[in-house]
Amino acid sequence: MVTTPRLPSAFGLTLDDWIEWAEARGQSRFRAKQIVEWLYQKRAKSWDEMSNLPQTLREELKSAFSLDRLPVVRLTGSKDTTRKFLFRLHDGRLVETVKIPANVHFDGGQSDRITLCVSSQVGCAYDCKFCASGLAGFTRNLEVEEIVGQVMAAEEESGESVRNLVFMGMGEPLANFTRLTKAITILNAPWGLNIGARHMTVSTSGLAPQIEKLAELPIQIRLAISLHGASDEVREQIMPVNKKYPIARLFEALEVWREKKKQKITLEYILIEGVNDFLAQASLLAKRAKGLDAKVNLIPYNTVEGLPWSRPTEAQQEAFLQVLTRAGVVATLRREKGHDISAACGQLRLQQETAEGIVAVDR
Ligand code: SAH
Repeated sequence: MVTTPRLPSAFGLTLDDWIEWAEARGQSRFRAKQIVEWLYQKRAKSWDEMSNLPQTLREELKSAFSLDRLPVVRLTGSKDTTRKFLFRLHDGRLVETVKIPANVHFDGGQSDRITLCVSSQVGCAYDCKFCASGLAGFTRNLEVEEIVGQVMAAEEESGESVRNLVFMGMGEPLANFTRLTKAITILNAPWGLNIGARHMTVSTSGLAPQIEKLAELPIQIRLAISLHGASDEVREQIMPVNKKYPIARLFEALEVWREKKKQKITLEYILIEGVNDFLAQASLLAKRAKGLDAKVNLIPYNTVEGLPWSRPTEAQQEAFLQVLTRAGVVATLRREKGHDISAACGQLRLQQETAEGIVAVDR
């Protein structure tokens, strides 16, 4: 049997890449604009539909690029609830995306548009002790078209456009920096998915040098830090990355971010009973947040099967919040179950297909 090699995806190219491609073939740059219009505005499923392109060019495109979407292997939830998409990638790996419906609290406010929580890697190498995603280790980075493809598939399934996007799915987005930033270019561009930069949030476990690099990019995306501990002692117990980039180094990078972006950073703090929920941590967190003029998102821990952690009592959660608000920090505490974006995203776990079905893999 002759196997045809897999064609590169058309959804991994920016408009500049398309212009270069067209010009290398003696075509005008106008053709590139037509191509991206078919890809992202008209959502063409075949090259033949692209009726304003010359036949020869369409043939060439057909033999050079694939228009394949990410196949959905499982879809849970309904249109009005939090919905999880499980996609199969070309190499059989599985990746999850979460769609949070409109009118759910978002980033301390209300959103009237759907929010999509996108994965950036298959698995994760950072080994945060409380997180489901890293349980089975790191498999690989997602390609540009696999990041963009999650958004396209979710939009095409729901018939709504995604207006808020958070990189809080599986993986560490800043460890996949080049692909992530190229995907962001496509997601943000008016010729692409046209999602406003201020409506996109990159969440990171705290890769200081990459935060500084991201700060250099001329795009006003938002930054959220998975802090989860206000002292090195507490943080390094649950986040091994803190050994490499201790809090002082991380905050240096956050100062760079603030200087360049002039926007508020969000500090995410999962409350885990007996680990990081002491009021002394709250005071220290308040001090750090004030120094940085950051806002704080407190998230009661969502239990993960097989992990020993649990959330503190509601009274303890409220007491922790009070320390922050009394210190004048803008802070929110997620009270509604299952609706919080980071919490819903934090449940994503590496999955694998077996003859018996799809299973979550632990090691
Ligand atoms: N690697 C990135 C993005 C993925 S995690 C990061 O660390 O920010 C998305 C968010 O979900 C993070 O804040 C993470 O700490 C949180 N999270 C992970 N497991 C969780 C759980 N069981 N309950 C609540 N939030 C969780």
